[in-house]
Amino acid sequence: MSTESLTVADNMVVSMDYTLTLDNGEVIDSSEGGEPLEFLHGRGQIIPGLEKELYGMQVGDAKKVTVSPAEGYGESDDDAYQEYPLDVFPDDMELTEGMGLHMRDTESGQIIEAYIYEIRPDGVVLDFNHPLAGETLYFDVKIAGVRHATSEELSHGHAHGAGHSH
Ligand code: ZN
Repeated sequence: MSTESLTVADNMVVSMDYTLTLDNGEVIDSSEGGEPLEFLHGRGQIIPGLEKELYGMQVGDAKKVTVSPAEGYGESDDDAYQEYPLDVFPDDMELTEGMGLHMRDTESGQIIEAYIYEIRPDGVVLDFNHPLAGETLYFDVKIAGVRHATSEELSHGHAHGAGHSH
């Protein structure tokens, strides 16, 4: 066994306990009561503003990281609000404000996630911003594990943790 103390660096697999809180104090995500989040560091598996703050940390190290919208899920973009006529939605679909939808982009065929921002008499305004766009994010993180990535993980660009399957 090596007694080498590994630190978080590019191409290391990191497991991390975390809690994510918003400006209003609301906890919106946490690994508490579950498995730590495992990711391949330096490959953009987590948001950039958090990733860059983890370099050099070791198992057991804890840190509070504040991430601005620009380095998190982006600023809220006014152009991301679009109105659609009611008849593009299935008749039997119950529409409520705040509801998440999957829309197919007619040009690219890609599935895009959107949220119902407002229901008007003649149409529905969808918000294509990420739900956390415009939010400052407050992370409490603690490093639970650091290991070298396997060659397979490096070629895939992500960690192969428990429960990861292809
Ligand atoms: Zn893979």
